Amino acid sequence: MTPAPIQSIHSYHAHIYFADAAERERAAQLRAQIGARFAVQLGRWHEQPIGPHDLPMYQVAFAVEEFARFIPFLMLNRAGLTILIHPNTRDARRDHLTHAFWMGKILPIVRPDQLPTDIDDTDMDIVVPNTAPSLSA
Ligand code: ZN
Repeated sequence: MTPAPIQSIHSYHAHIYFADAAERERAAQLRAQIGARFAVQLGRWHEQPIGPHDLPMYQVAFAVEEFARFIPFLMLNRAGLTILIHPNTRDARRDHLTHAFWMGKILPIVRPDQLPTDIDDTDMDIVVPNTAPSLSA
């Protein structure tokens, strides 16, 4: 089988989950730390599970070039939170089920059959960094 080329990774998501008020507070602290340090796209808060996600969370979209700095920061600073990291290729189903990795617990992926498997290139999300980092990682 031909290996999948890493160039098929368009961007990444980190989904930062919280199960209760204490975790939500830690997730808010982590969000502020991320926003101050990384040129990433901070998604809105989802206070209820949405899409394939089994717990409330927010998403951080980031460019391929940020991976080597951003992932170690999460490793050191996730404060016990569960985080899903997945690439964005054209196959969202495999990205969530097969290509992903987890920090903390592994949560179920909800209704994976509803995730598309052949996203058109023109429909791939563009990562728009909307933060102005002022601190170094
Ligand atoms: Zn995602």
